[in-house]
Amino acid sequence: MRLYEFQAKRIFVENGIKVPRGIVAHSSYEVFEIVKEFGAPVIIKAQVLVGGRGLAGGVKSAENEYEARKIADQLIGGSLKNEDVASVLVEEKVPIEKEYFAGALIDYQSKAPVIIASSKGGVDIESIALENPNEIIMEKLDDKIGLTDYIARRIAKAVGLKGRAMLSFANILQSTFSILKKYDATLVEVNPLALTAEGSFIAVDAKITLDDNASFRHSELFAKLKAEKPKPVKGSKLRKFLAEEADIPTYIELDGNIGIIADGAGTGMLTIDLTKDYGGEIKAYCELGGRATPKLIEEAMNIVYSNEEVKVLLINLIGGLNRMDEMAQGITSYIANKGKEVRNEQEIVVRMSGTLEEEGRKILAGSGVSSFDNIYDAIEKAIEISRRC
Ligand code: GDP
Ligand code: MN
Repeated sequence: MRLYEFQAKRIFVENGIKVPRGIVAHSSYEVFEIVKEFGAPVIIKAQVLVGGRGLAGGVKSAENEYEARKIADQLIGGSLKNEDVASVLVEEKVPIEKEYFAGALIDYQSKAPVIIASSKGGVDIESIALENPNEIIMEKLDDKIGLTDYIARRIAKAVGLKGRAMLSFANILQSTFSILKKYDATLVEVNPLALTAEGSFIAVDAKITLDDNASFRHSELFAKLKAEKPKPVKGSKLRKFLAEEADIPTYIELDGNIGIIADGAGTGMLTIDLTKDYGGEIKAYCELGGRATPKLIEEAMNIVYSNEEVKVLLINLIGGLNRMDEMAQGITSYIANKGKEVRNEQEIVVRMSGTLEEEGRKILAGSGVSSFDNIYDAIEKAIEISRRC
């Protein structure tokens, strides 16, 4: 999971990395009030997950509360690099003497933590690598030894620092590494790490990516971060968001008019291939995983069918671990709850085989849904319906 800047900065503060004083705002009115309290100048920063916000116009400086409000009006509710902007971070503007880069990440090739440091911060690491390859220090760590004071100071000296600033930079490197380990992050990046006129360091930007596979070890943190994610209001962004919320393993939108729900990745790929071979065009593809519950398939139907462009829903289920009686209950529950809203041109085509399929068929028949045993028949039927209008 990639964290928003304000979330990453909260973790920085909790782990001893200084950040500028700042508050998240969701409206230009809030921004106005914050700047009145902070005093100008301030920096207004769009909270989005894409990088390179500065160049894209998502990081702006304001000289007073009126200018800040105007900038906030342009950013909030708009989009940046195709991502909706729901909030901005308002921060006191830091007078920067020089910009550095400090970070820790997991290198998946060597499976080792790596420390990265540079005296050419402010631009992304790829550009530094391109323009100043000799100005990047990459130090692979031995996990048993970690980032000792000695190693951290050696790196800090190598970026050209001395005295108090060198010690302070070394401390920040150690904090990024301890955040990496403590939260099972795959990336912790401070860019720019700003050296101020007084000779102290402050994290002007913050990036953290957490390893989703380790979310069970940090369930409270993940729940909090997830709750802070802005909810899209409509369209495909909303449907993708809902699919993620429901823990649907795969949800993809394309350009056709057939919605496909399958109960496994293999079944799904087969359904996509055959549907295309038979001349059908797919609008949405949804895969439920091998252990789907009735609630999950009902949720998937809700999401796929809420899309006006889906003319027919093709559900292909091959019961291995999944029980067809349970899948049928999910489908009939959807029809019972949403049946009246299902548009005329839309129909539901079910192909069902495997574990408890007879029971499943009976349940479906009770709700007037006929089901196919043969996948080719089901696909032909779905394509025929998709062409009716
Ligand atoms: P990014 O473009 O998404 O990486 O966003 P950043 O947070 O890194 O901001 C982009 C650039 O804006 C930075 O590299 C800084 O040069 C500048 N910037 C951001 N905050 C401040 C600040 O408080 N003071 C000053 N002087 N510059 C800032
Ligand atoms: Mn940055």
